[in-house]
Amino acid sequence: MNQVIVQIQGGMCCGFGNCAGLCPQVFRLDYETNRAQLVPDAQLDVHAEQIARAASECPTQAIFFFRSGDDAWA
Ligand code: SF4
Repeated sequence: MNQVIVQIQGGMCCGFGNCAGLCPQVFRLDYETNRAQLVPDAQLDVHAEQIARAASECPTQAIFFFRSGDDAWA
C-alpha cells in the first residue's frame, strides 16, 4: 500500500469546489468558511489518482499531494 499524504493550504483556497467535484470521497467544502477540507477518515490510498488530479486542477494550487514512490510533492 502506498503512503499518501494530502494537505490543503486553507489560505490559498478560493472555495471553487473543483476538488470536491472531482473527488468527493476525500474533499468537501465547508460552507461556513468557503474553503475546502478533507473528509475525516477518507481512504487516501484508494483515491490517490483522483486526489492527484484534484491537486493538478486546483486553480490556486492549494492542494499538496505526496505518494510514496513519487519523486516529489505535487
Ligand atoms: S480546488 Fe483548490 S481552490 Fe478549489 S475548493 Fe479545492 S482546494 Fe480550494
